[in-house]
Amino acid sequence: MSEEQRESMECDVVIVGAGPAGLTAAIRMKQLKPEANVCVVEKGSEVGAHILSGAVLEPRALNELLPDWKDRDAPLNVPVESDGFSMLNATGSMRLPTPPHMKNEGNYIISLGNFCRWLGQQAEAMGVQIFPGFPAADVITEEGVVKGIVTGSFGIGKDGQKKDSYQPGMELRAAYTVFAEGCRGSLSKRLMEAFNLRDGVDPQTYGIGIKELWEISPEKHTLGTVEHTIGWPLESDTYGGSFMYHLENNQLAIGFVVGLDYSNPYMDPYMEFQKFKTHPSIKPLLEGGRRISYGARALNEGGFQSIPKLAFPGGVLVGCANGSAVSGDSPPKNRESSRANSVEKSVMMKLATAVAP
Ligand SMILES: Cc1cc2nc3c(=O)[nH]c(=O)nc-3n(C[C@H](O)[C@H](O)[C@H](O)COP(=O)(O)OP(=O)(O)OC[C@H]3O[C@@H](n4cnc5c(N)ncnc54)[C@H](O)[C@@H]3O)c2cc1C
Repeated sequence: MSEEQRESMECDVVIVGAGPAGLTAAIRMKQLKPEANVCVVEKGSEVGAHILSGAVLEPRALNELLPDWKDRDAPLNVPVESDGFSMLNATGSMRLPTPPHMKNEGNYIISLGNFCRWLGQQAEAMGVQIFPGFPAADVITEEGVVKGIVTGSFGIGKDGQKKDSYQPGMELRAAYTVFAEGCRGSLSKRLMEAFNLRDGVDPQTYGIGIKELWEISPEKHTLGTVEHTIGWPLESDTYGGSFMYHLENNQLAIGFVVGLDYSNPYMDPYMEFQKFKTHPSIKPLLEGGRRISYGARALNEGGFQSIPKLAFPGGVLVGCANGSAVSGDSPPKNRESSRANSVEKSVMMKLATAVAP
């Protein structure tokens, strides 16, 4: 860390990232130790700003965390009504039985962004301090123990020089630091290396998920429908496929996931997704609609054997940052995820008993 003079703030627990993992960790910490001073830093301009909306939520963890979520007006308004699974070729599609692990009975189609905003409100009501617009840029490590983070500096020009508006990042010091940065978080990667957290586990593998949110014609919209496809336009040796979720307000979350171990170097996952939208069974759904937003994000694909050690002196990795949180519609990996989550839970219990004694 530089010798620059910085402002410093002390908390019991600092959480990096206000995604589902960071916010639920904050809530859990407050449930276990209401007197603990818990701070969350989020690099997005607001909670939910960096979250790709439109997801199927399996509510088991939420039921455990906040059993009264319905009374708290959680934005889970669209139960899944039907699941479809098809194999595409260039000209047609064939309906297949939905594999058991892709059935979504009891799950909800949600806006993950809205869900995070709601979680943020629950956390703040419990006294958690959330600082949006503050990226954690560095880790404070003293004598082999993580002691918090340094937020990014403001006022640095494109040329890397300090401008008049320059303000150095601030230190947030804590007894424990929880890293919930999502997949391939920059600080999480550094911590895995610094504390040898990946020793003895398989390398992580990744996919890329591209998602668009559309408003489609009401007559084409079937609230609560979940559709998945495999096949065209991907080559047969490429892992991936599409998803379509019909959510509220005639919206459709449509997206494509491609495993990043594809062998054809000329293949472009983004262009494959655009090609997919021209398929004769997909194009009519979008005609007359408009795209509202879009984004892309990496996904962990490695499974349980790729999950590193979660805890290190002074902190822990949670959620996608450690490789354990994966898409809600792939239960075989969810089982792995649940096992990792139970390890995370016991780590949170230990943290709670250690802070704010
Ligand atoms: C295309 C696609 C579709 C998906 N569909 C589903 C689905 O249907 N159902 C499902 O259950 N899951 C789905 N997922 C997976 C789901 O998005 C993740 O499992 C979940 O978002 C993980 O939560 P998280 O909190 O660990 O990470 P994230 O949601 O990635 O949140 C991390 C947060 O940390 C912030 N952050 C990162 N680094 C820093 C830093 N250094 N400082 C400050 N803030 C930082 C980010 O801005 C972000 O807000 C999908 C993923 C993709 C890509």
